[in-house]
Amino acid sequence: MPELPEVETIVRELKRELVGDIIIDVWTDSSKNLQGNFSEFKKEIKNKKIIAVKRRGKNIFLFLEEDKIIWIHLKMTGHLLIGKYKFNKKEWVPVDNDKLLDPNNRYLHWVFLLRSGRALVLSDRRKMAKIVLLSDTSFAQQKSLKKLGIEPLSSGFTPEVLKTILRRSKSEIKRVLMNQEYIAGIGNIYANEILWKAGINPWIPSNKLQESQIIALHRAIKEVLSQAIAHRGTSAKDDNYRDVYGERGKFSSYLKVYQREGEPCPKCGTLIKRKKQAGRSTFYCPRCQK
Ligand SMILES: [Zn+2]
Repeated sequence: MPELPEVETIVRELKRELVGDIIIDVWTDSSKNLQGNFSEFKKEIKNKKIIAVKRRGKNIFLFLEEDKIIWIHLKMTGHLLIGKYKFNKKEWVPVDNDKLLDPNNRYLHWVFLLRSGRALVLSDRRKMAKIVLLSDTSFAQQKSLKKLGIEPLSSGFTPEVLKTILRRSKSEIKRVLMNQEYIAGIGNIYANEILWKAGINPWIPSNKLQESQIIALHRAIKEVLSQAIAHRGTSAKDDNYRDVYGERGKFSSYLKVYQREGEPCPKCGTLIKRKKQAGRSTFYCPRCQK
């Protein structure tokens, strides 16, 4: 599932590529992704200029003129692509970028045609991504957005703020890191990497962390997420995340524990272990993360 670094990578490129362009039409074979009526949606966004693109947590927002906001959550298998496509018999085929022929980029269920001749496309194998049309007013009223926790890469996310968050909960630290209402954007891949980097046991209760561990955790959150963005996110094994040009995220080769069960810990050489935690796989070094 795309987490903060993947969504941030997508949003930075969307900003560069889409702002100023105009949506001239939209096509779908999966209207269940949309909250609301498709023909209504189409009517509302047709011929509207894209004026801004923003991210909040794992959510993407395309701001259009005349107070329209397209809210996209990629969920498990969704990713957005930009390219030139032609409708050939039954399917959309990319015309000038072979990367878009990667099978992971071929689950095309939404196509937004643009004035520039390109298209913004949603590839979503499991068709679980969510698309919602909002206005400024309904945007401000979305409960799930209002409840989102702090952005971990914002300047407001200080060690003090992290400490306040951690003190509030007796849950296992890994679950707290992944709770979107505390900190927005961290999922299973980065929670594993962050805890390894900070040398913290994923099962210890959040409110039991010592001062020095909180400092290390804060630093690890900032570093791991920034490095992952610098390498354009992670396309792990069996992970179909691709950037908007259809390319794999390069952070996969920098992962230290995630999906590295049985390999030596890069710090101490002990073999990395994997254990189920709250239904997800936790990868950790039994020695560094006692
Ligand atoms: Zn180790």
